[in-house]
Amino acid sequence: MRLDLREIINIPGSGVTFDYEPDLTEALNDSLVGVKPPVRAVGSVRNIAGVLSFSAEVDAVLVCSCARCLKDFEYPVHLPIETTLKESENDEDEPDVFFLEGDFIDADEIITTEFILNMDQRFLCSEDCRGLCEKCGADLNEGPCGCKLETDPGLAALGQLLEHE
Ligand SMILES: [Zn+2]
Ligand SMILES: [Zn+2]
Repeated sequence: MRLDLREIINIPGSGVTFDYEPDLTEALNDSLVGVKPPVRAVGSVRNIAGVLSFSAEVDAVLVCSCARCLKDFEYPVHLPIETTLKESENDEDEPDVFFLEGDFIDADEIITTEFILNMDQRFLCSEDCRGLCEKCGADLNEGPCGCKLETDPGLAALGQLLEHE
């Protein structure tokens, strides 16, 4: 959503508020596979002594793919965003600064960028997810698969010892 800042850009102490459903599709990747509607972004742009300050609270339920078992699971997030808006791109190496397009700012671009910067690149459905068996591909969260004993070198050696006795 493009926010119109004409009313506040030259008036210290003024501000505009927003409450809308941001488009996060550009933040999706192999591990962050979807976003469940509704997504909500509530915030404001304020002119504080001549500096434009963008703040937002974003609430979304992400659909993530577990890095170990590959199952999709839902992951609710709350992301607070605080950033500064500038008029020209003279200070390009400044972090956490977004630039105006004329008297407008693209709120989706800020929210998407902050999402990419702040989200994990790797998700686990739970800290102790057991993942998939490397051999047969079974989901080990649902119980051990048949091949576990065969592949364990320690147990195989023990089996040989027992045979010799
Ligand atoms: Zn998992
Ligand atoms: Zn297996």
